[in-house]
Amino acid sequence: MARLEQAAAGQLTPFVLVLEGSVFDETRAGAGFFSGLGDDEDGQPIPISIWIDRLAPRAVAVIAIGTCATWGGIPAAGGNPTGAMGLTDYLGHDFRSLLDLPVINLPGCAPNGDNFIETVAYLFLHIAGIVPLELDDLGRPRWLYSHSFQPYDGGPEVRCNVPVRGWMRRVGGCATVGGRCIACTMPGFPDHFSPLIRLEQGGPA
Ligand code: SF4
Repeated sequence: MARLEQAAAGQLTPFVLVLEGSVFDETRAGAGFFSGLGDDEDGQPIPISIWIDRLAPRAVAVIAIGTCATWGGIPAAGGNPTGAMGLTDYLGHDFRSLLDLPVINLPGCAPNGDNFIETVAYLFLHIAGIVPLELDDLGRPRWLYSHSFQPYDGGPEVRCNVPVRGWMRRVGGCATVGGRCIACTMPGFPDHFSPLIRLEQGGPA
């Protein structure tokens, strides 16, 4: 908490803000709150959205890790009582960090840890002015999300490097261990990619 407060007060610079989890619309929470971190001077929880408001404008870079933080994810699926959304939708698509970067998006449910560490390493080199940081039009590190495929015949295009990189040090990965790709890295997951689990009218209960 002390580090967050220092960063919010402009006493910790430079810093990178990393968010995991969806951003909730706290205006829907009534007298309560959906997510909190630390307490204010009245002993009330401080919503995560307030921390984002305080920290994002001061960060040299902002990373959203996981499909919840990038696109809203499962909390933003049909119904969405909390108004859950991804960080780019919360900050606005025109948001730029102090280093003039949009939100760096690392989707995945769960996200690939090697992708995260590699992105942080490249980001540090970029901050030092040594390498460019290539992001695609959705703010994803281009070299990590350029592998595209269809998870099933006639299915949507999915961008994810787990089928070629594996889960950790080239070991594991959904399809390589007999699982099925559910398009967890894609905007609109899960609602737009659930033909196998959606109950059609008159279907099995
Ligand atoms: S292969 Fe499919 S299910 Fe597995 S991590 Fe990539 S997008 Fe998600």
